[in-house]
Amino acid sequence: MDLHELSGGCHCGNIRFKLTLTGTLAQRHPRACDCDFCRKHGASYISDPQGTLRIDVADESLLQKYKQGSGIADFLICKACGVLVGVSYQEEGRVYATVNSKAIDAGPQFAQETPVSPKLLATSKKLERWQENWFHDVVLKVNRSVAD
Ligand SMILES: [Zn+2]
Repeated sequence: MDLHELSGGCHCGNIRFKLTLTGTLAQRHPRACDCDFCRKHGASYISDPQGTLRIDVADESLLQKYKQGSGIADFLICKACGVLVGVSYQEEGRVYATVNSKAIDAGPQFAQETPVSPKLLATSKKLERWQENWFHDVVLKVNRSVAD
């Protein structure tokens, strides 16, 4: 099986992530969410339920977990440089997450973006879709502020 290791993060380096994706990158369509928030960030999302994701936050005080829309998921944003790196959501102790393809370090050529409209889905359908599409194997490591 094709396995690709990619890395990414915010602009200032406070949030870094590593992900593995299965299959052919050129056949993966980043999902461009059409909600106002994602549209304004120009975000489009890449995830793989068969892959892995590890997010390292160097300084917790510079991590913004922004809730919008249905308020179930946390948009992970760096307070220092403003980059939206991804979205996570927790259920029964399990973390599901997806990353903003624009925050992946330059290199991979993905397929064309596909527009998606999760805002039109009922909450239960939305959760179903996230559980189907997002990374299941997620480590979110948040380091305490140096000042603490
Ligand atoms: Zn940053």
